[in-house]
Amino acid sequence: MAQVDKEAVITALNGLKDPVSGEGLYAAGLVRGLVLSPGRVGFMIEVPSDRVTLYGPVRLEAERLLSSLEGIQKAQVVLTAEVENPSEPAPPRRPATARLAPQAVDQHAKGAGGKGKPAPVPTERPAHVKYVVAVGSGKGGVGKSTVSLNLALGLKALGLKVGLLDADIYGPSAPVMLGITQPPTFNEHKHMVPPVAFGLKVNSVGFLVDADQAMIWRGPMASQALTQLLTQTEWGTAEAPLDVLVVDLPPGTGDVQLTLTQKTLIDGAVVVSTPQEMAVIDARRAVTLFGKTSIPVLGVVENMAYLEGPSGEKIEVFGRGGAKALADGLGITFLGEVPLDPALRKATDDAQPIQSGDVAERFKAIAEKVWAKLG
Ligand code: ADP
Repeated sequence: MAQVDKEAVITALNGLKDPVSGEGLYAAGLVRGLVLSPGRVGFMIEVPSDRVTLYGPVRLEAERLLSSLEGIQKAQVVLTAEVENPSEPAPPRRPATARLAPQAVDQHAKGAGGKGKPAPVPTERPAHVKYVVAVGSGKGGVGKSTVSLNLALGLKALGLKVGLLDADIYGPSAPVMLGITQPPTFNEHKHMVPPVAFGLKVNSVGFLVDADQAMIWRGPMASQALTQLLTQTEWGTAEAPLDVLVVDLPPGTGDVQLTLTQKTLIDGAVVVSTPQEMAVIDARRAVTLFGKTSIPVLGVVENMAYLEGPSGEKIEVFGRGGAKALADGLGITFLGEVPLDPALRKATDDAQPIQSGDVAERFKAIAEKVWAKLG
């Protein structure tokens, strides 16, 4: 597929008028993070939040226009709301690693290969969030989103105030898993007020863009949108801060994940893997990624560990114990195993998360271990 002609895109965009200045869209400086890849084009229009409605038709028109250009199969324009002056000062922060033993951090820094200086560690969490936990995996399809959601529910079952940020740009799933149809609204500080489902405050890339389109995001576009979701969402208030924000990262260990981990203080990471050899090798990369950014790895969850047979026997569909061996080998905590349970998949499909029974108890136990490492 041929590369899209940037000049043609700019000319087309200047053919559309900015409703405020009357200038061409590109000339008016409204086109941010332009990404061109074979057959595809995407960018962001960032406007003050009170103008989102005004620019909605412009976004649609820009997508329609670009899709009609030669060589473009897919055009994606994301409309985001900017905040010029965050009016609420952030609460005081603790250093990133204050609550973890120094050796835990050193160990993971070694895991990163020890080359060069570690990346700078961000010093701030989103406002009114006590702890941020990232859930990562080396590759997709291992159940990272399922674990993120059920870990969040497990933490909630401990009596905590919990948020879930679905930052998986390759396949945002939280709105579907939780059956949320209403996107966030805006508060007087122009921050997003997240919908609440099953007691969790939820924001998702899926609210900014159609689930099947986000995957063309790369670099600045992804980074900016994810930063906005993290920092411009009303996760908590001064009176009622959020105890834990669980961030469902995109799978893999590329630039998007790295950038996100550098945008906010992350207190710890949970790595999800199946017992399969290749998945474990990928999970090791995820552990290394967190090491590079000095994010303490709280532990590994083995998902799809086994399938329970008709008479209670454990059928080892993907082999056995790979994630436990990985955790032992790297000296990190094994947080627990979750069986391959058709009810878990059905719960996702039906948007009715499991809240009681064996699987829920397992996630509660995992949540207890995670919380113990944070608190
Ligand atoms: P990822 O986020 O790693 O891509 P998902 O959480 O979206 O993976 O899971 C992929 C699919 O596998 C979904 O259909 C989900 O319902 C299913 N799934 C995940 N974990 C389990 C499990 N332990 N038992 C049964 N189905 C599972």
